[in-house]
Amino acid sequence: MTSVQPFVFPGIGPRVVFGHGTIGQAAAEIGRLGRNKALVLSTLQQTRDADALSAKLGKLSAGVFAGATMHTPVEVTETAVEAFRASGADCVVSLGGGSTTGLGKAIATRTGADQVVVPTTYAGSEMTNILGETMNGDKITRRDPSILPETVIYDVDLTLTLPVGMTVTSGLNAIAHAAEALYAPDRNPILSMMAGESVRAFAKALPVLVANPSDRDARASALYGAWLAGASLGGASMALHHKLCHTLGGSFDTPHAETHAILLPHTVGYNATEAGDLLQPLADALGGAPGKALHRFSASLGAPTKLRDLGLTEADLDRAAEMAVARPYPNPRPFDRDSIRALLQQAWEGQEPQL
Ligand code: NAD
Repeated sequence: MTSVQPFVFPGIGPRVVFGHGTIGQAAAEIGRLGRNKALVLSTLQQTRDADALSAKLGKLSAGVFAGATMHTPVEVTETAVEAFRASGADCVVSLGGGSTTGLGKAIATRTGADQVVVPTTYAGSEMTNILGETMNGDKITRRDPSILPETVIYDVDLTLTLPVGMTVTSGLNAIAHAAEALYAPDRNPILSMMAGESVRAFAKALPVLVANPSDRDARASALYGAWLAGASLGGASMALHHKLCHTLGGSFDTPHAETHAILLPHTVGYNATEAGDLLQPLADALGGAPGKALHRFSASLGAPTKLRDLGLTEADLDRAAEMAVARPYPNPRPFDRDSIRALLQQAWEGQEPQL
């Protein structure tokens, strides 16, 4: 019998409302928080959905701020905080992917506003107390209780419009959270179960969604997987994979979900030498050695598989490898500049990992 290792269970993030058409419960959820006026946040691309939500909220709405952008630039946040204060709002409703959730978190941590998040991608930020903000081209990430949203409304219907390419890369972004939670030094049995269940949900849902993006059951399964993965990210510390993605996204401006999708088979394959047993749920869900199976799964879904396709040069890889080892952090397998450089080369060329 395997013994239960000692652990700390930090609890599982915000209140969650999950289903089809659940956006209809936004007003009730704002009321439940004791709030009266919500500023609705979105990107420019999702203005129409944000306007519709604002109209539905009626006198509970303080208007729409549709200026959220990738990597939460501080200049955008400052404009949004001014709009928040001028509108008389006492909470935000963030409708969109990780970029919009990031803006809501940045407003909340500066003003004390409550957050209701309505996620429309699988990024998982809504379940974490993590905020990455960019200033003068530098991305700084921190964890703080004031960043964690109060309520999350998962409405499967809002994910039906997520384009297939983004569905796949965002799903792989979520699997990355689950993978690193499985081998995190502060893992616990509940989050490990959730992480394994997340990978199984995506393994079933993503192939169906590539064939038919309107499949409602597969959309529900993927969003359920996103919740589980987000909770995993929120409850455990992240290692090599997230740090490398952070380096590439923050300093080379590579797109978030694609960067995760491309690097994941390589970072997982690298760590599989030391954490193969912990990664077993992932290997079982996808069939085969974890990195290799992820590589094949991604390729079968038409996901990007080469860093070179994101416009990175081999000289960029040299610099990225140096940056990635500048600040040490725990990882199942030790690494140095040369091992990271080799991993990045493999990902740049899109080679299949050994493990
Ligand atoms: P995103 O939020 O930037 O969305 C990408 C594009 O897709 C946007 O134009 C958006 O409006 C559009 N979109 C979103 N949902 C849609 C839908 N259902 N239908 C049609 N279009 C839709 O992308 P993302 O990958 O969700 O988020 C990336 C950002 O989130 C990054 O800045 C990343 O650092 C952050 N993030 C943070 C955490 C955290 O815990 N702090 C976790 C994951 C991601």
